[in-house]
Order: sequence, then C-alpha cells, then structure tokens
Amino acid sequence: MNYQPILDRIHGALKPVIGQGKVATYIPELASVSPDHFGMAVVSLDGTVASVGDADVPFSIQSISKLFALTLAFQREGDSLWARVGREPSGNPFNSLVQLERESGIPRNPFINAGALVVTDILVSRNTNAEIATANFLGRLCGRSNVTYDPRVAQSERQTSSRNAAMAHFMKSFGNLNNKVGEVLDAYCRTCAISMSATDLARAVAFLANRGTNPWSGEKVLDASSAKRMSALMLTCGTYDAAGDFAYRVGLPAKSGVGGGIVAILPGECGICVWSPALEETGNSYAGSLALEMFTTLTGKSIF
Ligand code: GLU
Repeated sequence: MNYQPILDRIHGALKPVIGQGKVATYIPELASVSPDHFGMAVVSLDGTVASVGDADVPFSIQSISKLFALTLAFQREGDSLWARVGREPSGNPFNSLVQLERESGIPRNPFINAGALVVTDILVSRNTNAEIATANFLGRLCGRSNVTYDPRVAQSERQTSSRNAAMAHFMKSFGNLNNKVGEVLDAYCRTCAISMSATDLARAVAFLANRGTNPWSGEKVLDASSAKRMSALMLTCGTYDAAGDFAYRVGLPAKSGVGGGIVAILPGECGICVWSPALEETGNSYAGSLALEMFTTLTGKSIF
C-alpha cells in the first residue's frame, strides 16, 4: 500500500491543531522544545518509506526507550523477568508510587517508570554500560551506527529525578533492585534521553510488525511468540493511563513518550512513528494521537 497520500492528508488535516496541548516541562530541557513540530513516518516491511513534516528531525524518545530496553532485557532474561515486574495496566500515572507499597515493590508493568527502573537494573547487571547497550540495539534495529543520547537532556532529568529516585529506593527496600540506586538512575535517565527521528524509530519498531525478525538485517530479535507478547503489552500498557481509550480510538499496539513521540505497529505491514511535542493531559502527544487515529480510519487497517 502507498501510504504517502494518506500521510499528506493527515498532515494537511492536522495543521490547525499542531501545537495544541502542553510540552512536558518537568524535565527542564524538554520545556525548550517548540510545540509546533509535527513529523510522521511509515516504513513498510519492503523498505518503502512514507513521511511528512519533521519526520527526520531527531527528538527525545523518552519512554519509547522502555519498549526497546524491555526487548533487550527479555531477550536475555526470558520469562524470569516476570518475577520482578507485572503485565497489567496500572490504572495510575506513569510515575505513581502508590501501588508499589501495596504490591510489595513489584511494579505493575514494564512501561511505567517503576517497571522501567527494574528493567534498567537488569540491563545494568548485564552490561558495562546499559544505556549504550540500548542505544546500540536501537542502532542495529534501524540500521544506523550513531544512535546515542543527548547528555543535556540526560543531565536535566537526572537533576530533577527525585520521584524516580524515590521509586528506586523503595523497590530496593523490597529487594527488587540489585544495583546501586544512583547507577540505575544514571542509566535510566540516559536511556530516556536517546535522541532519534520518527523515520528511524519507525524502522526500529518494524521487527515487531515482522513477527520478531528485523526486516532490514534478517536478524531474529525475538521469536514470533515473544514479539506477540511485547505487542500485547504495548496495546494494554503502552500509552499511559489512557491505553484503553487509545486502543479504542486507534486500534494499534503503541508506545508513547513525554517527548511527544509515539511508535506503533501494523502487524505484517509496517512500523509507524509520529512526533509532535505538545501533549494531552494523559501524557500522549495530542496531534500524534489524532494522526494515528486518522491513519487507521483512512486506511481501514488496524489489529481488529
Ligand atoms: N524520562 C521520563 C521520566 O522518567 C520518561 C517519562 C515518559 O516519557 O513517560 O519521567
């Protein structure tokens, strides 16, 4: 399918609302990003790229990194990972502490911050440099050697990471963090600060649309069953505490970040990424959510 005319139509239709919503400010460095960006890319499994707007402008991937860090940890750890983190939607904000006490330091899922801190802890145990391991993994997935993090964003988040530090200490008190809190936070903030374009992210996520095999290199990243499981987690937990509404509106497995990016997959067809930094209340990109909703409406394709 030629997705270019569809993306052109989406871009045209959304122009009046791009910039509506609020750029995340709790990480000071993100506050300086213009809300007026909009880029979208669809990379089909045959390699065809359709894109519009700022699709090639790098942005802070933030929680989108949680999907790739999880994949890397799952590749190495397998099902034993689920002893330390659950697989249920949290029904709470991504940075909430409340469930951790009731649930003995086991985060509800790997896409809330507490869950991602546990995943980072696993990667810190297994790599000399966890953030570089995730960045290199992303590089292999999209065919680039230069994927890296933005040190200013990493430092800006690290300096304001009291809430994530509280979660990490709390989980450590329950024995669910093996490394030093400071080390895990350093790696976590750097991983969130990885910078990539929508086109590269659409390429990187395409392995999940291709039953776990990287369509560009042929590498088997996950077996088909594990790829199905990662995609199921995206659908149920990937778009903050709005995952139900997002599935209702869009109907695709997706993972969003507070930098305004959202990756999604259409199984058997393509990887997708949209970026627009102004967020709705839920933390998902306002124009990005609308763009994905229009995409499934106009193509008539979704997982349902
Ligand atoms: N680095 C962000 C944080 O920990 C990630 C949040 C997000 O994108 O959901 O708060």
